[in-house]
Amino acid sequence: MTRTDDYYKQKGLFGRQPEPYQVQVRTDILDLLPDDIESVLDVGCGDGYITDALPEHLQVVGLDISAEALRHAKCQTRVGSITEIPFTDGSFDLVMANDIIEHLPDGEHAGALAELTRVATKYVLVTVPHREQLEAQQARCAECGCVYHLNRHQRAYDEKSLRDLFGGSLRPVEIRYSGDLTLSPPDPTIPIKHGQGFFRTWEKGICPDCGSGEQVAGNSDSLFFQALNAICCTVWSRTLRDQPRRNNRTEIMALYARKPTTRTPKTQQHEEKIGSPLDIDFSNKFQSVSLGFTLGSPWAQFHLPAEAVISAEGIGRAPDATKAVWIPIRIPVEAEAGDTIRIHASGSKGSGTLGLTCTDGISHIDRILFKKRIRSTDRCIEVRLPERLWSDQYGTILGLHLSGKVRVHRMSYEPAVRSRPETTFLRLRAGHNILYADRTEPAVSWGLTVESEGYYPQPDLELQRVDVE
Ligand SMILES: [Zn+2]
Repeated sequence: MTRTDDYYKQKGLFGRQPEPYQVQVRTDILDLLPDDIESVLDVGCGDGYITDALPEHLQVVGLDISAEALRHAKCQTRVGSITEIPFTDGSFDLVMANDIIEHLPDGEHAGALAELTRVATKYVLVTVPHREQLEAQQARCAECGCVYHLNRHQRAYDEKSLRDLFGGSLRPVEIRYSGDLTLSPPDPTIPIKHGQGFFRTWEKGICPDCGSGEQVAGNSDSLFFQALNAICCTVWSRTLRDQPRRNNRTEIMALYARKPTTRTPKTQQHEEKIGSPLDIDFSNKFQSVSLGFTLGSPWAQFHLPAEAVISAEGIGRAPDATKAVWIPIRIPVEAEAGDTIRIHASGSKGSGTLGLTCTDGISHIDRILFKKRIRSTDRCIEVRLPERLWSDQYGTILGLHLSGKVRVHRMSYEPAVRSRPETTFLRLRAGHNILYADRTEPAVSWGLTVESEGYYPQPDLELQRVDVE
């Protein structure tokens, strides 16, 4: 057993609760499956999360190098490697490898792709992380000093590299953007962070050189580290101003066919509206985060704590909340003195107050911008930032303080000196939403499963294409 095997054979690596990006990837794979197949080989199937969800009428086999992982799978399984698939030529109509080939070292990559092609009669489906900044996921071994990617990723992919993956032997039929909506733009401060000893850590990371699980990371509470994050966020805010629709995805997948197909991709129509990514509609669930903020988020976000509720009217305290509620907010903007913030809120006869604070991302000093009693319906409160504010890694820090029966509907942010970005938002419906840009071959699609209605910034597939060429 090589040291690399130790990483993939860890017990806790498989059979866990799927992460949201995995749920999205599985939905998109099921959506992309062609009608004219009877058998599927899932190479690197792991615990069978995708394999076990494939339609029952298909003859399905899951292949993985880890017998430990296969113990979780319910489908027919086989232990084996993508570099030497233990089946004869043309054994399956469709062969898929999801989040596998990015792990392969240079010497194995081409051979593995040839193996996928060899075993498939009609189709190959490949999923990979999209435009991953590999250096941002690097750890440093505490034992030997080796710097390695925590998930053992060896390379990054984009739309172009996926289109050209199989050269002339297979043609891409459809390329789909999938996974999370949270792909952050590249962090320009990574080389400085690494130079100063700041690295990532993960309890399941194992050094490929010495096998140690110990990592050194540097102190992320240090003022220097936080200043680097503030600079990084400033760069992202400027990019957003110049290219407002930089909304992006963490995964990309492609369906390849041996022969030309007559497949017509699905489409959906979405109602559009123009708005600024600096504004917040507190009734839009897509703009709220329940766990944590997103690095490089393309629009303003607010945290919805358990004591608050969201409705068509915006946010307010939950009926059973006993104390005032605190709503943290992050705005992707370079905040300057004189920037204007407008808040639309309403109250009722009973008592209730609304407060707004701002926080400097480096010094963490808070400042109360206003605190008012709200009695009337639809009040607009306007306030100007008294001084420049540094952001933290997620954006400019604001916070709302709600007591009583106050509800907050909207917030707008108007920079005093810089231009205000505007972008197109799409109204998504509950269910599986597919967005298409008109393409010839291959078709390019964007899949997003949402549980409720709401607006989301339109992805800019044109921009992504320009970026990759
Ligand atoms: Zn080591």
